[in-house]
Amino acid sequence: MTIRLRGHHLLCMLTFVGEGYSPRFVANYARVIRRMRAGEPVLIVQGPDDICAPLLAGDAPHCHRDSVVERDRLALESAGTLLGRRLEAGSEVIVDGGMLNRLQRGFVSGELRPACSGCEWSGLCDKVAEAGFEGTRLMAGTGD
Ligand code: SF4
Repeated sequence: MTIRLRGHHLLCMLTFVGEGYSPRFVANYARVIRRMRAGEPVLIVQGPDDICAPLLAGDAPHCHRDSVVERDRLALESAGTLLGRRLEAGSEVIVDGGMLNRLQRGFVSGELRPACSGCEWSGLCDKVAEAGFEGTRLMAGTGD
């Protein structure tokens, strides 16, 4: 199996601590993160992905907005620079310890954060990063 992930979720996955839009959204997100931790490959996609899925049934989900598409573009650009490879729809990545480390460092330094501009969760993500990503679901050994 392959996890389908849109660009800016490469950032959001770093700070996911079990909070989100609804219990259903959070439960699905946690499943995706468990699969990632188990080493399942990630396919970068354009538009809504496996994390967005529970939101798509709602009225006018934000997942299709131009601002969110632009967030994906900025995220792929900065993550690609950090990882030293071009990232675009169709790219495949494995979220291993090395990649996680580089992305976390880029998140803390701000290199990855242009994509976060205007995001309602920015304050929470700032705090998670300041705390060294402690308690995030993606960090090994934090449980589910
Ligand atoms: S601030 Fe928003 S876009 Fe940035 S990592 Fe957090 S949830 Fe994702």
